[in-house]
Amino acid sequence: MPTGSGKSLCYQVAACAMQGFTLVVSPLIALMEDQVRSIAGLGFKVAALNSLMDSRQQMALLRGLEPDEPLILFVAPERLRDGLFQAALESKSMRPDMVVVDEAHCISEWGHDFRADYLFIPDFLDRCGWPRVMALTATAGDQVRAEICQLLRIARVYGDFPVHRPNLILSVRSVRGKEDKQQELLSFVRTARMPGIVYTSSRGAAEDLDAFLRAAGINAAYYHGEMKADDRVRASDAFMSGQTDVLCATKAFGMGIDKPDIRFVIHYQITESIEQYWQEAGRGGRDGQDCQCVQLYDPPDIKIQKGFITRSYPKPLAVKKAYQDELSLGPLPWGGDARDIPMQRFYDDNAAILLKRFEDVGLIARVGEVMTAVSVDLVDHRAARGPYARLAAAINSASSTANGLSRLPDIAFKLGVSDAEALAMLYRAAVEGAIDLGSRADRIIRYRTVKPDIADADLEAIEEKMAGRRAYKTQRLDELVAYLENTMQCRARLIGEYLGKEMSDCGRCDVCSRQ
Ligand SMILES: [Zn+2]
Repeated sequence: MPTGSGKSLCYQVAACAMQGFTLVVSPLIALMEDQVRSIAGLGFKVAALNSLMDSRQQMALLRGLEPDEPLILFVAPERLRDGLFQAALESKSMRPDMVVVDEAHCISEWGHDFRADYLFIPDFLDRCGWPRVMALTATAGDQVRAEICQLLRIARVYGDFPVHRPNLILSVRSVRGKEDKQQELLSFVRTARMPGIVYTSSRGAAEDLDAFLRAAGINAAYYHGEMKADDRVRASDAFMSGQTDVLCATKAFGMGIDKPDIRFVIHYQITESIEQYWQEAGRGGRDGQDCQCVQLYDPPDIKIQKGFITRSYPKPLAVKKAYQDELSLGPLPWGGDARDIPMQRFYDDNAAILLKRFEDVGLIARVGEVMTAVSVDLVDHRAARGPYARLAAAINSASSTANGLSRLPDIAFKLGVSDAEALAMLYRAAVEGAIDLGSRADRIIRYRTVKPDIADADLEAIEEKMAGRRAYKTQRLDELVAYLENTMQCRARLIGEYLGKEMSDCGRCDVCSRQ
């Protein structure tokens, strides 16, 4: 179902019927707040835990939950592997009766929105004994759907494909080279009705175009996934409230965004598939008024997408190199049996895909997320004399990292327990209010090495999987190129057919209006 078509009604109805604890996993912080406001009148307790709250606010919210009260709780996907969140739920014996996974296509590598955070959702569901699961998505490709169903154990699929809206006016403009493209963009934007989005395929391009447009006197801003969270929220808010006319953005912008009055969506570079193009173009004209959906097409741009495919699904030599050099996984040193991968590294989606492949063929096994240092404050000073005396003493004597965090192994050593047990004790103390765990922490994802080194047979098994995905992505790209180079058939009709909908000519796209 497309965004804005009442996806949230699905779980509201189910939650009302169930009267239990519904956990909604959503990557959309801005949308969470809207949802909380709109559901607030239903006689449920509704709350959202998000990264904009500081750790004290988050803890206060968790402490205030009542186990038997009907509850809808919104959380970002990364929260599910947060030990403090798990400890807080466990301390109250709270288990979700239903878990709703919004934007569920993010769990699939087949789609264009894969997010490493989503890979941990099945682990979380394992730990809660697989409650009911509802997955929601606006993207409905066959492979993506199959993968969602498999990973989240979904038995039944409901829904419909998005259809073309006649107020979206599709066109493709051929350009040659950077200067030609920039001029085409500028002359379009100068006469266009505002506001609009310019989509690029990289962070750098979004920033460059923003600078270019502002230099030409256009009220522009940029948005991409590598900005700091609060900068991102500010950029998004300014665009949503009408302070910014043109937002130069990567695909990171728009998921769940429901700004009704977008008058143009320009694609400055090409997307990876018709499906992605359609989803992004479809963010325009939600109010039913016209929206110009313009693709600027310079054939060398195809190489950018081909490069993404090669990097996401590397050939055996590159896989081996990544295993040895980038991820430092092999060969196993004498006597060693654990590898630590910094969290940061894992947040490169390509690295996440590779690690998953290594797990698939049994080279490594994921132990879990491990904290190496935490920011911790004693809140209750009586704790230092009471049941937390030993813990408090251990915290006080632990050495600090350069950024002022307390080293967890030191705390564990003083307590005479393992790092994991020390962390569990900290979580318990935080849940009970004796200490405050700040939101800063150094984290790693720990892998146990199962085999000493990668063998040719492993590389072949990985290549078999990689080849399938590479071929699939290449085919999607070829289909998009065919759409871009098409001059004979109505564009809306072509997209409709691609998505499995019979349609008549739209009469408004560039192909229709030439005829
Ligand atoms: Zn047409």
